[in-house]
Amino acid sequence: MRPRNHCVAAILLFVAVTVFGQNAKPDAEIQKMIKEVSAKNIEASIRKLVSFGTRNTLSEQDNPTRGVGAARDWIFAEMEKINADCGGCMTVEKQSFVQPKVNRVPEPTTLTNVVATLKGTTNPERYYVVSGHYDSMCSSPSDAKCDAPGANDDASGTAAVIELARVMSNRKFDATIVFMAVPGEEQGLLGATYYAEQAKQKAIDIEGMFTNDIIGGVTSMKTSPNRNKIRVFSEGVPSNETEQQAALRRSVGGENDSASRQLARYIKEQSDRYLKDFKVWMIYRRDRYGRGGDHIPFVERGFSGVRFTESDEDYTHQHQNVRTEAGVFYGDTPEFVDFNYVANAARINLIALASLASAPARPKNVTMVNRLNNDTELKWDANKDADIAGYEVVYRDTTAAEWTNTIPAGNVLTYVVKGMSKDNYFFGVRAVDKAGNKSPVSYPRPVR
Ligand SMILES: [Zn+2]
Repeated sequence: MRPRNHCVAAILLFVAVTVFGQNAKPDAEIQKMIKEVSAKNIEASIRKLVSFGTRNTLSEQDNPTRGVGAARDWIFAEMEKINADCGGCMTVEKQSFVQPKVNRVPEPTTLTNVVATLKGTTNPERYYVVSGHYDSMCSSPSDAKCDAPGANDDASGTAAVIELARVMSNRKFDATIVFMAVPGEEQGLLGATYYAEQAKQKAIDIEGMFTNDIIGGVTSMKTSPNRNKIRVFSEGVPSNETEQQAALRRSVGGENDSASRQLARYIKEQSDRYLKDFKVWMIYRRDRYGRGGDHIPFVERGFSGVRFTESDEDYTHQHQNVRTEAGVFYGDTPEFVDFNYVANAARINLIALASLASAPARPKNVTMVNRLNNDTELKWDANKDADIAGYEVVYRDTTAAEWTNTIPAGNVLTYVVKGMSKDNYFFGVRAVDKAGNKSPVSYPRPVR
């Protein structure tokens, strides 16, 4: 027998629940920025990066035309130009450090991250980081002499980041956006690790990190059925989960609800509002099978992070000495990069970053009251954002991949979903501002 209040709750829900994804109407400024992203600019950046012959992390640092140093200085100069064009709106820095000897670094070597920071207006302490790696490799990661054009891996990601800085630096956002190009990825995620570790030590609140790595849409895969998609990889269980947190998760579920996974869902939800012909393909996995990328040092330190990579890879054009063998051409050269595909990948980054940096922070300290009843009671802390309008409770069937339903909760810090058992659905909470911008969803932890 169902409790009597179930019917009342069902009627209320019928009135209040909105179909998921019905946000405020698309933001006109985001629509403008989408149009401003230029495949031509991206192509020019990729060709320029390739022109340095190799960008291997162990290659020359003081040759103005060849090697990783030439690439570093060119990226820095590009960011400086963009900064001049926006009237000095950003801080552009070379973040250099000496990498001690590790497996793929035979001698202590100076590595330099190029970091352009666009400070937020109302919530500058909240950060989003978008990056690509500017180093490259041929067949051997420690061969600093061979040609390693790295047009797709990862001039594509680096070019996208530069283009994002160009378009987005002409606007203002509530939160801070960091546009970053890092070396040492092929040597073991070294540049990204350094930035993530510094951020952790300085207690910087990085609410989302995107690595763009191999987003070139290799032209040999143009007929793939997945051509109009980009993969977004996100971990389900946090890499930094403690034993205690794991035990708690096993008792209440949540292996599909890390903050990184919520970030991936957010990227898809937002980009679906703006782009019809190019889609996010969420992959529920930290990275490709047994592989890694620059978001990993971030998620290992408790930040949320995802990886963007083209839908289909062609390994004859990745990590290969440039050559022809038995009639097959090998090498990561620009003619195998689809610049329009890279531009679309950049647009998805842009939509997600602009939405995140305009929206309130995701609600903090979200808890689910663990009581033996058939209601679902959620609590959370008040957001600090000045323009907060309220909160939404979202839910989905336990087998659904994405959030499906929304309940506007109002500007409250606790909400009871009557007659819907926490046993049978997954619930989350997100914040909404007065302009209708929505935060990513926070997944609750249980409290008694
Ligand atoms: Zn790469």
